[in-house]
Amino acid sequence: MAASRLAFVLATTALLGAACGREGSKSQAPPAVILVSIDSLRPDHLGSYGYPKPTSPRIDAFRRESVLLRQVVASAPSTLASHASMFTSLPIQHHGASVAAQSALRPGIVTLAELLRRGGFETASFNGGGQLHRSFGLDRGFSVYQSATDSSDADIGEDTLSQQVERARPWLESVRSRPFFLFLHTYEVHHPYTPSPERLRAMEPSYSGTLPAAISIRLLEKINSGEHVLRPGDLEHIVAAYDAEIASADEGFGELLALLRRLGRYDSSIVVLTSDHGEAFGEHGEVGWHGDALYDEQVRVPLILKLPGARLAGRALETQVRLIDLAPSLLSLLGLPAPEQFSGVPVDFAGGAPEHPPWCVSGIDGQPNSAAVRTERWKWYEGRLYDLAHDPRETRDVAKANPEPQQALEARLLAIVGSREIAPLTPAAQDGDVRDQLKALGYVD
Ligand SMILES: [Zn+2]
Repeated sequence: MAASRLAFVLATTALLGAACGREGSKSQAPPAVILVSIDSLRPDHLGSYGYPKPTSPRIDAFRRESVLLRQVVASAPSTLASHASMFTSLPIQHHGASVAAQSALRPGIVTLAELLRRGGFETASFNGGGQLHRSFGLDRGFSVYQSATDSSDADIGEDTLSQQVERARPWLESVRSRPFFLFLHTYEVHHPYTPSPERLRAMEPSYSGTLPAAISIRLLEKINSGEHVLRPGDLEHIVAAYDAEIASADEGFGELLALLRRLGRYDSSIVVLTSDHGEAFGEHGEVGWHGDALYDEQVRVPLILKLPGARLAGRALETQVRLIDLAPSLLSLLGLPAPEQFSGVPVDFAGGAPEHPPWCVSGIDGQPNSAAVRTERWKWYEGRLYDLAHDPRETRDVAKANPEPQQALEARLLAIVGSREIAPLTPAAQDGDVRDQLKALGYVD
């Protein structure tokens, strides 16, 4: 290890140990960040966010040791674009990673993993592949980058968080005495919904309709095109299948926490649970779908973050936070400077007055002219203004009655999107295998 890295790691270990409060004496382990992204996970389907069904007992227990952010917005409602924003702290309009354009992260853009590796952290990701395939550039900064679809033991979209934890286990054991950054991702909750019969029954004791237990992407396409008309009870059945998959991912999350505890790396680590986007269930027509609209059901995500020593345990933050604020927040917690590139700013988890601007810009991969800008109160999207405080389901355009916020939002959207000079796109080097994976996930025809 280079001398400067060693100095940083020692300083960070001391810093985090000092921050640990009651567990300070136990927190001599080196710093670590474990970032878990459960793809397509809506916050309002977790008990921690008020959901009445038992989808998430382990996540809810973890929440009690963590800070919960109630209003977190992704930059895009699709996997690659959103994760690229999460790792680079750039809106989708700037980072260049796109499935629609078949382009990778632009050269020269620095990622969270790169910054942590430079800071002396071991880095690894175990993920579901597909839109996270290394050809799109999100492997930048990871010494180990394994996608479920690199191996033949899982169908695309059918990997589980439990499997990802198992894949990560040998690596975690190998770095047990060193600083590390682990990024885990799973498509377990992503469509198709293929829950076990037991889990489905737990979410839906009775269903007398005609839909199958497993909800395929083809069926969802037929529903969303109008070819298959839902009958009473069918929508609830589809949601139950989605919820049952959350319950399974919750079990995998519990296995991860148990493993970290066994390795002595839980107490002193930062552990983050989030997602890349939500999932629509009929709010604006589509069912079991994401990727093509910027309504809240597609862009709101959970964010639950455990600090070293469970500092600020049980705290909840109500203010709007963007996923692009996550990378600067993690660097700030570790005492590392953020690069000039970052658009996001660190969150004050103690709940102080937010320094960061309240504007969240989101966009749709493949639709460069479609963008939304959101504050805690308002959203400007497709020429309509929504009053989120009085109309959280975004059903009424109130632009005419509120010209001032409309003009401010529109101006801010143009300013943010136009704030950087954009380099040309970089083609993603792909083989037929990746295209097949993306096809299986419903992303390309
Ligand atoms: Zn996704």
